[in-house]
Amino acid sequence: MTGESEIVSLVNISAEKWPPRQRTYFGSLDVRSPEPGEPYAVTMIRGCSGVMDLGDKRTMEYRITAREINSDSGEGSFHGVFVAAGAAPTKTELADARRRLEEFQRRLVAAADLEWERTKNPMFITDLERRAARQLGLEKPWLYDAKPLAECPVCAEKIKHGVAVCRSCGAILDREKAAQYGLVPAEKTVKNRQDAGKQQPEAGK
Ligand SMILES: [Zn+2]
Repeated sequence: MTGESEIVSLVNISAEKWPPRQRTYFGSLDVRSPEPGEPYAVTMIRGCSGVMDLGDKRTMEYRITAREINSDSGEGSFHGVFVAAGAAPTKTELADARRRLEEFQRRLVAAADLEWERTKNPMFITDLERRAARQLGLEKPWLYDAKPLAECPVCAEKIKHGVAVCRSCGAILDREKAAQYGLVPAEKTVKNRQDAGKQQPEAGK
């Protein structure tokens, strides 16, 4: 049994763009997000042997894959993507997905509320929690505060958004900005460089 022509419908009811880390479960596959006004988006995925090869039960593979997608935020998490039994989702499937998504979002908001009560520090509120509150249309004191920390792509240290140089490892994260403050030689201002280059040979004569 090859099952190579088997097509499975992955249904997304969330308008969110998926964080890249969730996409890694799929390799290069992008899960479509609904356009404004669309209740859901379907991504057709082909049944091929690959990452989730668990034997000869193909449908099982995809159910596991879908569970993997939703497992990022811990037990019972649901990001609005599920595998439809047929080519298109049924009303029941959609209603069930909406209920699960809302439950998950409410749990996220509750967790953020607790965190806020404990620390009053917006840095501890995750992007996921903020999005959940926005989607539920809730007003929260932790919602509009400072951005959470970013991660240095070199040393993975938590850093502020928009910094030019990583405080921890010294990696240059924004060359233009770093150059502006004289932390690195300007690279983008090619004209200045050429001018400087012209002067040098003359000076050397
Ligand atoms: Zn760093």
